[in-house]
Amino acid sequence: MQPKLSATVMKERVMTALAGVSDPEIPTISIVDLGMVEDVRVHEAPTRVEVDLVPTFLGCPALAMISQRAMTAIRTQLGLSSDQVRVVFSTRSAWDTTRIHPQGRDRLKAFGMAPPPKVSASEFVAGQTSVACPFCGSEDTKLENIFGPTACRAMFYCRRCRNPFEAIKPV
Ligand SMILES: [Zn+2]
Repeated sequence: MQPKLSATVMKERVMTALAGVSDPEIPTISIVDLGMVEDVRVHEAPTRVEVDLVPTFLGCPALAMISQRAMTAIRTQLGLSSDQVRVVFSTRSAWDTTRIHPQGRDRLKAFGMAPPPKVSASEFVAGQTSVACPFCGSEDTKLENIFGPTACRAMFYCRRCRNPFEAIKPV
């Protein structure tokens, strides 16, 4: 029998577990970095964990995979059975790109992807924003194609280092 964990310790371990769950499309960024974790509730007796996630359009084809991974990570981290852990997607609040943590923005850049610029979606589409190149940092970049490989990304070209790159569209 495992020693009982306090609610505080359980919550910390749940966050550790979730920080290890990556976005299936961008493996260097976690669902915590993306600001997808809306709420974590723990009950000491009987031991139970409930997590609310906010669906992002970034991982939308993979939401089922994300909740499955989150569930497995929590169970492994806390030694719980499947009926003690519940991970659901909440529609109470909408995800938007301002929810991405500063660390998540850095990790996107390290992945070679420009984090979403802090402008409105319409300003972005109109090209009224400069997006810094994730490779060289230059703002001398040009929007090539508003439709990148997925609905959430656009293709840019850096005039300084001549690299094409993807940028996350603001929503
Ligand atoms: Zn560049």
